[in-house]
Amino acid sequence: MTSGGAGGAQPTAADLDAADPLALIRDDFDLPEGIYLVGNSLGALPKAARDYVMTELDRWGHLGVEGHFRGKLAWKDYHGLLTEQLASLVGAHADEVVAMNALTVNLHLLMVSFYRPTAIRHKILIESHAFPSDHFAAESQIRHHGFDPTTSLVTIEPRPGHETLHRKDILEAIAHAGETLALVLLPGVQYYTGQVLPMEDITNAAHAVGAVVGFDLAHAAGNIEIDLHDWDVDFAAWCTYKYLNSGPGGVAGAFVHRRHVTDQSLPKFLGWWGTNQATRFEMATEFDAIDSVESWQLSNAPVLPMATLRASLDIIDKAGGMPALRAKSERQIGYFDRRLSEALGDRVTNITPVALQERGCQYALRVTNGEGRRVFAELEAARVLCDWREPDVIRVAPVPLYNSFTDIDRFVQILDETVR
Ligand SMILES: *Cc1c(COP(=O)(O)O)cnc(C)c1O
Repeated sequence: MTSGGAGGAQPTAADLDAADPLALIRDDFDLPEGIYLVGNSLGALPKAARDYVMTELDRWGHLGVEGHFRGKLAWKDYHGLLTEQLASLVGAHADEVVAMNALTVNLHLLMVSFYRPTAIRHKILIESHAFPSDHFAAESQIRHHGFDPTTSLVTIEPRPGHETLHRKDILEAIAHAGETLALVLLPGVQYYTGQVLPMEDITNAAHAVGAVVGFDLAHAAGNIEIDLHDWDVDFAAWCTYKYLNSGPGGVAGAFVHRRHVTDQSLPKFLGWWGTNQATRFEMATEFDAIDSVESWQLSNAPVLPMATLRASLDIIDKAGGMPALRAKSERQIGYFDRRLSEALGDRVTNITPVALQERGCQYALRVTNGEGRRVFAELEAARVLCDWREPDVIRVAPVPLYNSFTDIDRFVQILDETVR
């Protein structure tokens, strides 16, 4: 049985793959055997990553310490090779974005600057189902400043019987916290439900009460179109091993709005990579901040993980960047929705919002007969790579860079056989 369903007039997966201008990009990746639908957790390996890394190993072997200073790939400037591409993915200017550290580290470093509680304004607003690392980071920042999370951590949650957050509830919670609200820390895309939050509205609402806004873009960067600068977001951080395919533990991204990057009154944890290059190697102990987000850097940057990320960003450029990827993603979402309803009807529900502007490529599927765990185990046994998230959701993400319409079709067929 192949795709198409009963209608006949509807295009099949093969038709859609044949018409897909990005279909060949898949060949730029190594995909594990089976159907890889878990790029929301760890993106696939860009084949060229091997060359990019080998180049740096060779440079190390041939140049030793001089690799820091020699040529276009000089390691002391290597992070700068990533800046333009990362900035374009999140809608930022080059002086607003830097590749550094890991996601949770960056959240902490940015909160050092942007969470400055006072007796009146001390609250952080997060979601009640925040990714644990974000929850821990916010909670520990509150304690670090001598406040108590029971009074300073405000959480928002879906209405009873609902899976996702209401835009109105988020904005009301912000308005309600008012002058007690120091920081809003929310995801761009919710990791469990796949819901895209209205980042611009949230930013406006937070600024209206005098609060600062930071977004965790772990599930948003490389998945949806983002305009951090124009939305006036204060700061953001994201990992690159999900939709940006940098590999396990890859280097993360950080954004600070241009309004803040040269503000030397912001408290900041300092390291030598944040001082001006011209004087850095004179080893003076006077901090001379780089006039960009690079002044938040602490340490000389991890070149090998940045090399794998470059390989991936070059493929994303070749594909036409986020607009082209999102256009394909929307076609895949339309196809996936159609196949799910044709094949499975109400035996499986997707808790991800239906409206395109409220979702990225990730689906959060719930098997309605309560046998989600068994179904997930059988999917695994059938070499469908997806993931299980407690309490009862199977996450699958067709990633437009390397997933085909045929992957989606085969997944739906296997799911259908498994749920039966
Ligand atoms: C993936 C993810 C993380 C992981 O944090 P690391 O510091 O990269 O380990 C944190 N928060 C969210 C929302 C995530 O989706």
